[in-house]
Amino acid sequence: MEKATPEVDQWQTDAMAEKTVKSLIKNQFDAVYCKTSEDAISHLQSLVEKGTKVGFGGSMTAVELGLVDKLEEKGAEILNKESVTPEPNPFDPVAFKEMTRKLFSSNLYIASANAVTMDGHILNIDGAGNRVATITIGPDKVVLIAGANKITRNIDEAYNRMETVACPKNAKRYNMPNPCAKTGVCMDCKSDTRICRIYHIMKYKPIMTDITVIIVGESLGY
Ligand code: SF4
Repeated sequence: MEKATPEVDQWQTDAMAEKTVKSLIKNQFDAVYCKTSEDAISHLQSLVEKGTKVGFGGSMTAVELGLVDKLEEKGAEILNKESVTPEPNPFDPVAFKEMTRKLFSSNLYIASANAVTMDGHILNIDGAGNRVATITIGPDKVVLIAGANKITRNIDEAYNRMETVACPKNAKRYNMPNPCAKTGVCMDCKSDTRICRIYHIMKYKPIMTDITVIIVGESLGY
């Protein structure tokens, strides 16, 4: 089989991203396509000024983009730097709940999505629910940043992506003794350490939340 040229790959990425952005806008989200990581970082920096309180949902995309440093350069106050590292943090339920309450009042909350569909829906799976709660309501503004690798055609494909890519890789990253961390795909486990507990779909923008979705024309996070 012939390998696609970089131009053809780029064309497909652009076509899928542009369709996804249009659909998100139809579903009342603000949405923008940034072809490169640099463009996405500039877009985020334009939303920040000195003293802006910025919170993060655990996001490998944010880690890969180096967003803590990039936003601190603009004067942002990062509320939970410890969440933006490749290594999982030690889990202290009391501190975790306290921080979640604090993040509800951030001026800007940045997270990723596990999947964004070409018909404009956003899907996430959470264990504790802090991320999906905070992207739904609370912060003055929410930005979801997703590489083009997160685009799926529809909700069925989004679930497939989450069960074969996002969740097993997260279980592995957190060093969980769950079956997916051995097999590489979801086994719908009954483990006490199951990380997939809340299945969250935003079909339309939540009524009271200002959400911008940035689709980046690169592969970022998982
Ligand atoms: S449900 Fe269990 S097996 Fe499936 S991805 Fe989540 S933690 Fe892994």
